[in-house]
Amino acid sequence: KFVFAAIAAGALMLSACSGAAGGSGDGGDGGLVGVAMPTKSSERWIADGNSVKEALEKEGYTVDLQYAEDDIPTQVSQIENMITKGAKALIIASIDGTTLSEVLQDAADADIPVIAYDRLIRDTENVDYYASFDNYKVGVQQANSVLNGLGLVELDGTKKADAPAGPFNIELFAGSPDDNNATFFFNGAMDTLQPYIDEGVLDVKSGQTDFQQVATLRWDGETAQSRMEDILTANYSDGSKVNAVLSPYDGISRGIISALTDAGYATGAEWPIISGQDSELDSVKAINRGEQFASIFKDTRQLADVAVTMAVDLLSGKDPEVNNTKDYDNGKKVVPSYLLESQIVVKDNINEVLVDSGYYTADEING
Ligand code: BGC
Repeated sequence: KFVFAAIAAGALMLSACSGAAGGSGDGGDGGLVGVAMPTKSSERWIADGNSVKEALEKEGYTVDLQYAEDDIPTQVSQIENMITKGAKALIIASIDGTTLSEVLQDAADADIPVIAYDRLIRDTENVDYYASFDNYKVGVQQANSVLNGLGLVELDGTKKADAPAGPFNIELFAGSPDDNNATFFFNGAMDTLQPYIDEGVLDVKSGQTDFQQVATLRWDGETAQSRMEDILTANYSDGSKVNAVLSPYDGISRGIISALTDAGYATGAEWPIISGQDSELDSVKAINRGEQFASIFKDTRQLADVAVTMAVDLLSGKDPEVNNTKDYDNGKKVVPSYLLESQIVVKDNINEVLVDSGYYTADEING
């Protein structure tokens, strides 16, 4: 702590000398911050990267923003490079949360603080803070959105008095097993769905309910599409229909939608209720068309702000604000966290949640 404060004080003096204390608005003088993002193949990470970069530049830092196209060795060498270039802090959204121990030891040896961005970095002491959303709650919201689409609950999970008895056929998908968030989402969702499965209101016809059975490596839409095709062939060739699909991410939902379309499902009465996450533009349009029922919205602007404020605080010797010091044990330590709240987007509140907040313009959504 003392060593760290001394380094931070040194950094402040340096930036004061170069006239950039507090940030000049155009970046460049406060020193370098490395920002490692997983992939550009999903819109959300592009938005995250841009927001983090912009916020850091406003604070007077120069930013090295890198995307690794979901390739683990690429991400490791990008981070190694940031350390070599003299980054003062690292903000990292990992691909596989368990693969950064070695490179983060190098960061620690160079006294570079590390903030885990959205995804917890596991199995290392050398992660200082975690900025994310309440990931368990995201899973609860995904389940509630599915239950709401089936007419069983309000969006907040309150049971409806006139709820149908079912049974509804449901299939389950989870995210990437190497992403710490995936189990949080799935646990939140299953704790919410399990009572309905136990009562026979929901029936997982494939019988695939374990995380390992339903996980989707790298959150890949095509992998999800082929698993959905297999499920349809093996369990629904008797003319029965899937009524709902728990999907943890919009890209996976798009794969599921393709499988259903290819299998001859028509939008309208027989189309299943499908959840999602990230409110990516294509998926918001799919919600408008009635192909996807809901998507959890996580405001990447807010997340970027939290992570950047953490970095700036650390670099000026302040303790970053946290609101959770118990839930995110990375296998070596409980990482102090700041968790944001997410929202359920359905057709009726697209404007209120996504347009009024300035996240998208009405033209983007309707165009
Ligand atoms: C993020 C989700 C995202 C998923 C796939 C997770 O770690 O929390 O928002 O949908 O990765 O990119």
